[in-house]
Amino acid sequence: MNEVLNTPLITVENLVKHYGGRRGPISWATGKPPINIRALNGVSFEVRRGETLGLIGESGCGKSTLGRALLRLHEPTSGRVVFDGTEVTALKPDALKAMRRHMQIIFQDPYASLNPRRTVADIIGLPLMLHGLAANRREMRDKVAAIMDKVGLKTNHLDRYPHQFSGGQRQRIGIARALISNPQFIVCDEPVSALDVSIQAQIIELLTGLKRDMGLTYLFVSHDISVIGYLSDRVAVMYLGEIVEMGPVETVLSNPRHPYTQSLMSAVPDVDHPGKHQRVRLTGDLPSPQSPPPGCKFHTRCPLATDLCRIEAPPRHDLGDGHTASCHLINDNVSILR
Ligand code: SF4
Repeated sequence: MNEVLNTPLITVENLVKHYGGRRGPISWATGKPPINIRALNGVSFEVRRGETLGLIGESGCGKSTLGRALLRLHEPTSGRVVFDGTEVTALKPDALKAMRRHMQIIFQDPYASLNPRRTVADIIGLPLMLHGLAANRREMRDKVAAIMDKVGLKTNHLDRYPHQFSGGQRQRIGIARALISNPQFIVCDEPVSALDVSIQAQIIELLTGLKRDMGLTYLFVSHDISVIGYLSDRVAVMYLGEIVEMGPVETVLSNPRHPYTQSLMSAVPDVDHPGKHQRVRLTGDLPSPQSPPPGCKFHTRCPLATDLCRIEAPPRHDLGDGHTASCHLINDNVSILR
């Protein structure tokens, strides 16, 4: 395992991403300003060099938006992202393009993210051409063949098209495309959730080996706690555009302190104590990010919510050893599992 250094590779400060809003164009259909979707609401954290930070939460919580906003694939509304000492959020377009060589992304749906009209050589080799990392086409093809071999693809399939590969092979193509510019940091955006279970294990092993061999740092986005638990050094739990709990993965998963994390953990079957496992089913759906509730955003579903929770957002509490959680009742040591 690559040594996890205690220095940040990425620092995120108060990152906000709202889509639409009053400053957008008036809708021709309704004559009203566009709907404002508050996908990220002031997210702050670090990703340390050489670590895998797992980012978990249910669909619509903003975790994929966060991954894209770090790379400015989705332009943040406000806040800062600093990568290896450079403020990514302040870069001009040319400098940002050059920076992307060091910060890459693997997408969830390998088929949708691959151009069906391009050969695999052109798809994987595109970053080499964009960043001037290959002197000519021959060198580009040689480098593509080498990375295909590294991710377990046959090098004599260089001139095939995406539809000629299986789902797992297509995800390997996506991984090869992300790796070919020799990046330091990769956002893995649900890279296995569209794959069959047997293929998921192969891709997870591949990503683990590549991280070790190439000294990579991952932000691994997933809704699957078992995948996050297996891969991550630390974990951040997201709810409605905010990080509600964060810390070393063993600590957070064995002793979750935020009621939302507790509900997520209660959904994982306990094979050692099958009769004693207490499952907490949250009532209601994730509130709409168009009109998030005031106070603690989890209060509409939290079994422990108090009047204070409905009007005042909880501060982030430091629980020691890098473990933090945002809940008004954290010092009361209450749990929805008791
Ligand atoms: Fe539940 Fe209140 Fe804690 Fe929010 S602050 S998680 S509503 S107890």
